[in-house]
Amino acid sequence: MIHCAKCDWSQDNFWTENYNTIKSQVEGWNEIIAKAIDEKSPQRNVIIDRSVAVQKGMPFDIDRKGNAVVDVRDFLAKEIESMAKQVRHMHWLIEKDYLDDENKTCPVCGSAITID
Ligand SMILES: [Zn+2]
Repeated sequence: MIHCAKCDWSQDNFWTENYNTIKSQVEGWNEIIAKAIDEKSPQRNVIIDRSVAVQKGMPFDIDRKGNAVVDVRDFLAKEIESMAKQVRHMHWLIEKDYLDDENKTCPVCGSAITID
């Protein structure tokens, strides 16, 4: 993760042939979709921690254990919107872009950045 020291800009790690967040997210989304459209036992809701549902702005009901019950469509739509935002904020897609950049500062405010 790359962060700005002053503003709230950040980006995901650099992407590689074996790693990018879209790929791993899509695998997770495909599992959720497969369960939702299973004709024998469709799971049309996703159970997640209540604080996550609140933080992500997902509408939800509460189950007996206090977890958030989110409609699968609301869950996927919010996840996809969040991913789109994350991709738009990426400044350096691959490490080479970063290494070749002579101005390694926050693309939003120009401050120093940190990588962890
Ligand atoms: Zn900044």
